[in-house]
Amino acid sequence: MPKDVMAQTQTPLPDTAQAEPIPAAAQEAVEELLRSGDLFRYTSGANAPVTLLEQEFAQMMGVPYALAVASCSAALFLSLKALDLPAGAKVLIPAFTFGAVPSAVVHADCVPVLVECGANYRIDLEDYAAKLDQGVDAVLISHMRGHTSDMDAILQLAEARGLPVIEDAAHSLGTLWNGRKIGTLGKIGCFSFQSYKLLNAGEGGMLITDDPEIAARAVIMSGAYEHNWRKHALVGPHFERWQNQLPLYNTRLGNLPAAVIRPQLDELDRRVRDGRANHDYVAAKLNTSPVLHVPAPLPSETRAPDSIQFNLVGLDEAGITRFAERAEALGLPVQIFGRSTDNARAFWNWQFLGTIPELPKTRAMLMQACDIRLPARLTRAECDAIADVLLAAAAEVAPVAA
Ligand SMILES: *Cc1c(COP(=O)(O)O)cnc(C)c1O
Repeated sequence: MPKDVMAQTQTPLPDTAQAEPIPAAAQEAVEELLRSGDLFRYTSGANAPVTLLEQEFAQMMGVPYALAVASCSAALFLSLKALDLPAGAKVLIPAFTFGAVPSAVVHADCVPVLVECGANYRIDLEDYAAKLDQGVDAVLISHMRGHTSDMDAILQLAEARGLPVIEDAAHSLGTLWNGRKIGTLGKIGCFSFQSYKLLNAGEGGMLITDDPEIAARAVIMSGAYEHNWRKHALVGPHFERWQNQLPLYNTRLGNLPAAVIRPQLDELDRRVRDGRANHDYVAAKLNTSPVLHVPAPLPSETRAPDSIQFNLVGLDEAGITRFAERAEALGLPVQIFGRSTDNARAFWNWQFLGTIPELPKTRAMLMQACDIRLPARLTRAECDAIADVLLAAAAEVAPVAA
């Protein structure tokens, strides 16, 4: 790092990929599990860590049913299967999302229909309304990087057509919409415990719903073979009905990751609060630059970010390249979604879809939107160090005249 930036910031740039330590309580729980050897949820008793996690998560979210699974992708896949969509059903998804989302749709024998997203990373409602009327069977809203699209409009338009809405809240745990918890607005909500999300088990996911029929179907298809559904917190006639009627996809969560997640539930409020404070602090700094812009949240949204996205404004190709090069030279590689050959969040890289539609708004956004992790654990001085590098790189590029 050049001396001038070092002198300005003093604090070295943090390693933003570094996770928070797992709470000590998890170590005891894991040791106990290792002693007992009871790693499979259905061989341990009623107090299996997976079962307890499901109960605690459901209570925290204020929903009756929670099913822990291997990943958020598995939860999305099971959601589509639990809705009993026919093969070839069209599922509307935002074009700005992670490649695992269209993949879950394909995995469930459905066909993704991509909707445009705007410069503020949120779903373009005009394109959404237009595509809803093109024979769509379900809606899967991905709250990408924790950005919430206008859920009032999205739910209203879907409900008016009788279409179920699944929320991909993988990266949105702790976000509120009109004071309501994200993931509880649609028929089903899905979350991730992969290490880059707010609760870290390495891998893992959760499906929540208030629909007993969907819950029963998802529990059985997750791999509750024979009468193992009886070991879930809530059982009832819905389960009897589906016994032996559904495939067993075996995508359960084990007791080890559940034991690692449970003590982190108490950390959630702090992580949400600190992550939001860090984000808003850095956002205010970046917005002082004429070439950097952090889109504001929607009025109904209370965010829970652990990363920051910002747009490069008014730069030509050379300016964008120079900004990225300068930031990297100053020690902070900046990911611009659309400017690598393999970014899994650029829809044109989802070549497994076969035909990829052209989506000019989403493409334009991806070609100038930058992405940086900003974990809740960062100190103010570390946030300053990051913001200072970005502002220093921005100061070396000039907007082209409009
Ligand atoms: C991480 C993520 C996923 C995938 O979660 P996994 O648990 O890794 O399957 C899906 N959607 C979004 C928006 C994500 O951030």
